[in-house]
Amino acid sequence: MLQKQKPFGMTYLNTSPSAKELAQLLPDSIHRSLLKIFRNLAEHGHACYLVGGAVRDLVMGSTPHEYDFTTSATPEQVKQIFKRVIDTGIQHGTVTVLDGGMQYEITTFRSEVGYSDGRRPDQIIYGSSLSDDLQRRDFTMNALALDLLENKFVDEHQGLQDIESKIIRTIGFAEERFSEDGLRAIRAIRFMATLGFTIEENTYLAIAKTRNITAKISTERFHDELNKILATKSPFSALWELHQNQIFSLFTKVSTRDSERHILQYTNSLPVVPQAFRLAYLMHFLAPDLLANQQTADLLLRPLKFSKKLIRESGFVLSILPKSYQTWDSHSVRQILAEIVAFVGLGELKSYADGFATHLQRLSSENARDFATLAEQVMLADDPLSLKQLSINGKEIMQHFPEISGKAIGDVLQKCLDLVLQTPEKNNHTDLLTFIKKIQL
Ligand code: ATP
Ligand code: MG
Repeated sequence: MLQKQKPFGMTYLNTSPSAKELAQLLPDSIHRSLLKIFRNLAEHGHACYLVGGAVRDLVMGSTPHEYDFTTSATPEQVKQIFKRVIDTGIQHGTVTVLDGGMQYEITTFRSEVGYSDGRRPDQIIYGSSLSDDLQRRDFTMNALALDLLENKFVDEHQGLQDIESKIIRTIGFAEERFSEDGLRAIRAIRFMATLGFTIEENTYLAIAKTRNITAKISTERFHDELNKILATKSPFSALWELHQNQIFSLFTKVSTRDSERHILQYTNSLPVVPQAFRLAYLMHFLAPDLLANQQTADLLLRPLKFSKKLIRESGFVLSILPKSYQTWDSHSVRQILAEIVAFVGLGELKSYADGFATHLQRLSSENARDFATLAEQVMLADDPLSLKQLSINGKEIMQHFPEISGKAIGDVLQKCLDLVLQTPEKNNHTDLLTFIKKIQL
C-alpha cells in the first residue's frame, strides 16, 4: 500500500503544493472516484476543479470529510455525463454524483448578484469563469482550486499564505461580504474552533458591524454552526466570540448579568459526548441568574432548535451540576449514579459519570478524584442503582403484603432502592421483606 504522507508543516510560500502530493492523503477508493469524475468531465470538454473545504483540508494535511467540485459544465450536462446523479440542489447549480458509496457535489461555475435580504443572492449567473466562482466564496482559505488530472493548483486570493499563518480573512471587504450573507460572520467564528485559526482584524471588526445582518439568518443555520463548534475539541474561543459579539442574544435568551468567562472556558475540558455537559455549561454561562432546572433548558435551548431529547438531557445535567457535595462517600456516589441511571439509562451511566467527574474537577480536583474512584468501584461491583435491579418487584411485594395498595407500591420500591443505595448487600429477598415489614408498622 502507498505510504500516506502528510504535507502539513511544509512551506508553500514559494511553491504550490503538487496535486500528486496532496492526493496521497486521499483514501484509495475516493482517489479513484475523484479521478473518474475529472476524466469524465474532461472527455466532454469541460473544465473541472476540486474546490472549497476539501482543498483547504488537503493543504492542511488532513483527509477531507466531503468533496465539492466546480465545473464549466451546466447541471444538465453533468446529469447527462454521469449515470448515478441526484439533483438535490439544482436551483443552485449543484448536482450530486454517487460513486463508490460516496456523494460528490458538482456545481457549475457561478457568480452571484445582489444580496438584498442578507441571506441569499438575488440572482445566480452560470457559465462564468473559475475566477468569478472563486471570487464569490467567503474566505481566502476556502477559495483554493485543484485539478488532480492536470496537476494544477489555483490560489488567486493568497489562501495558501493565510492557511500557513492560520488566518481567516474574507475575500474583498469584510463588511461588504458579511452584509451580503449574514451566515459568513458565524462561519468565521466557527472556523476558529474547527481549524484553530484566528480571524484577521478587519474581518473580525466586521462581525460586530454587520450584527443586524446576522440577525436575519435562520435559527436552523445558526444551530448547525453552533453544533459544529460544540463538537470540536476546544470550543471555548468560538463560543466566547459569539458572546462578545452579542450573537447568542440574537437567537435565544441571555442574562443581563455579567457572565463569567471561566465557566465558558471550562467547555474545553468537558467531553464532546454526552453533548449535554457542554450545553449545560453554556446555559450556566448565558443565564447564570436562572435556576438550574428543566425550564431553563427549555427556555434557552428550544429557541436554538436543539432536539427535545438533548434539551431534556441538558436540563438534567444542569440540575445535577450544583450537587457537588463537599465530600463523597459510596452512598452519595450511588445516589447520584442512580439519578443518572433513572434519567438516561444504564448504557449511558459511564459517560455521564465521567462527565460529572470532569465537572467536579473545576471545583476541586481532590473531590473529583474521590468521586471518580468511588464511582468506578460502584460500577465495577455492579451495585444496584435502579428499581429494575432490585431483588424484589411490585408483584412479589403485593403477594407478601396484600394490605399495601397498588398506588403505594411505587413508593415502597423507591424506599427499597434508597436502602440498597445505602447498603447494597441488602439487595436480597429476606432483607428487603424485613425492611418492608418494618416500614409498614
Ligand atoms: P467544512 O469543513 O465545514 O465542510 P467548507 O469550507 O467545506 O467547510 P461548506 O459549507 O461545505 O464549508 O462549503 C463549501 C464551500 O462553499 C466553502 O469552502 C466556500 O468556498 C463556499 N461557501 C460555503 N458557504 C458560503 C457562504 N455563506 N458564502 C460564500 N461562500 C460559501
Ligand atoms: Mg465542506
